[in-house]
Amino acid sequence: MPLTPSDCPHVTREQIDVLHARYLEERDRRIKKDHNDQYVETSGKWAKIYEEDPYNPVIPRKAITGETDVVILGAGYCGMMVATELKKAGFTDFYNVDHGGDFGGTWYWNRYPGIQCDNDALCYMPLLEETGYMPSKKFCDGYEIQNHCRIIAETFDLYPHALFHTLIKELRWDPEINRWHVGTNRGDDIKARFVVLAMGPLNKPKLPGIPGIDSFKGKLFHTARWDYDYTGGEWRNPVLSKLKDKKVAIVGTGATAVQVVPYLGKYAKQVYVIQRTPSSVDARDNRPTDPEWYNSQKPGWQEERIRNFHHAAMERLAPGEPDMIQDIWTEISRNVAAELEAEGWPETTPEEYAARREVVDYRVMERLRQRCEEIVDDPNTAEALKPYYRFLCKRPCSNDDYYPTFNRPNVELIDVAATQGVERMTEKGFVANGKEYEIDCMIFASGYEVTNDLDRRWGIDRIEGRDGLSIYDYWREGFQTFQGMMAHNFPNMFFTGFTQAGANATNSKTFIDQGRHIGYIASEALKRGAVTVEPTQEAQDAYIRHLRSVAVDNSEFVNECTPSYFNNEGDQTKKRFIFGEPWGEGYYAFEDMIAAWRNEGELAGLELTSDPQLQAAE
Ligand code: NDP
Repeated sequence: MPLTPSDCPHVTREQIDVLHARYLEERDRRIKKDHNDQYVETSGKWAKIYEEDPYNPVIPRKAITGETDVVILGAGYCGMMVATELKKAGFTDFYNVDHGGDFGGTWYWNRYPGIQCDNDALCYMPLLEETGYMPSKKFCDGYEIQNHCRIIAETFDLYPHALFHTLIKELRWDPEINRWHVGTNRGDDIKARFVVLAMGPLNKPKLPGIPGIDSFKGKLFHTARWDYDYTGGEWRNPVLSKLKDKKVAIVGTGATAVQVVPYLGKYAKQVYVIQRTPSSVDARDNRPTDPEWYNSQKPGWQEERIRNFHHAAMERLAPGEPDMIQDIWTEISRNVAAELEAEGWPETTPEEYAARREVVDYRVMERLRQRCEEIVDDPNTAEALKPYYRFLCKRPCSNDDYYPTFNRPNVELIDVAATQGVERMTEKGFVANGKEYEIDCMIFASGYEVTNDLDRRWGIDRIEGRDGLSIYDYWREGFQTFQGMMAHNFPNMFFTGFTQAGANATNSKTFIDQGRHIGYIASEALKRGAVTVEPTQEAQDAYIRHLRSVAVDNSEFVNECTPSYFNNEGDQTKKRFIFGEPWGEGYYAFEDMIAAWRNEGELAGLELTSDPQLQAAE
């Protein structure tokens, strides 16, 4: 049953003030001086964790040295959406290059026990109408999502374009041939007319920088490369039978760990859950999709649902607009809308709306803390598991088995907030709060590189545009783009995701719209006989000026959050935000703006150059 506002306890202004002070205190004790630098990169001696594929063998192939129209870096949701849109724009000669052994990106790599998407599948899984696919339930299992990726690839005939098990190491603009050299770890040197970077924001696992991490002699792996040979079981049937005589520790209590921990608790002899900051964990209320309802939907229903989800999760519900999603992501907006409805929808300024949201936020978080207390038997464990921060400071979770797992006799919560993480690792295990725990296996659910320097995140050694200019140097102090998708000095290169563009609550919607825009620009450039297309400096500067003039300043909220990759690990000196610099007028305003730009048909702000040899031949 969907929750209503009355399911949340009332909180007085005085209680809010006390909670606010507690939130700041909890944040302060977790901010590490070394912020992002606290993590260990999965390169050098840890490269195996990132680079090796434990699931599928790498099939030898010859190096590719020929030409192509487009290289898309990535074959996850983003790379696939770009590919489908490029096909619609008329491109037939392109590659989807990916490190993984199949389509899916994060859904290829992440196979840990319990993996499900935390988002409404009817929004999250793209192209449902085009593929005719009905997700089995509201929150789908990882393998169902990866299978759907394969269905998309087959529907749009993407397999012939795939170059799997291939890591791009170099992208270098060659003015002699007006193409990008795409160098890979498989010895390729592909000469691409266009390049699209579509690798998603969370693709490179990171390790916690625990002193002595390399002295541990037991088994160690990251959740993004689950070792079923060691644990027993397999992706579709995670019966971790080989852990029955093992002592296992897991570092991290984020969205991944919340899904994994119930399985460890069920199968391992002893489990230590090492927590620095607790997640908020609501009831899951997962349910099968009703085929009758699904089949009764009118064309365009998915777009409409995605728009509604975006309003509820990231903006606000309009008067009379229903909440179609009815889950943790939309509860705050739904409750604020109920309040406004009861008052006859008074005019509310953005500040007034934010103030109402804040109160509802405290009420929802109080409900979640009470939920934890009701389920977890041991009062000290329950207290340590309660989240003290605003709702969207960390990714909200829902799971029916997480809290009950702490009532098992073989599961112990190790709270390391006081020492800002695990003190150290030893040959036999780890030390926390002055005590050594001997373990057989350490599992890192320690997340991904998100707000680090791009060269560290992307793992591509060189990306060099005109005159050898490195994108890493060019963007060292922040993005500089035109429409979030192109950059001056980087002809025929396109960027996707969270840069200086619109950010939709449904990622694949962002990727589809960006793919459409990129397909339009690239195909128009070719139709007009151009060999290069690039934003002018003036147009880029004007775009950034406008973007910043409409930006919404949410720094107060972000800075008050407990540290995580959402707020650059609490480092306020660098303005790095998971969503980049999003278009402040809202996602759909951005989409309308770029659609209008396309409709004008002028390619305004872009400079096109044509090949003198081609012109001479004409
Ligand atoms: P996160 O970055 O969210 O969590 C990393 C965890 O490791 C945190 O709990 C962190 O603690 C902890 N940690 C890091 N260093 C240390 C240390 N030295 N000592 C102790 N603990 C430490 O990673 P996840 O893999 O959980 O999630 C990443 C993202 O992946 C999610 O936010 C989400 O976007 C995506 N995801 C999506 C899912 C979906 O359903 N669609 C499911 C799972 C993940 P602290 O919080 O204190 O930093």
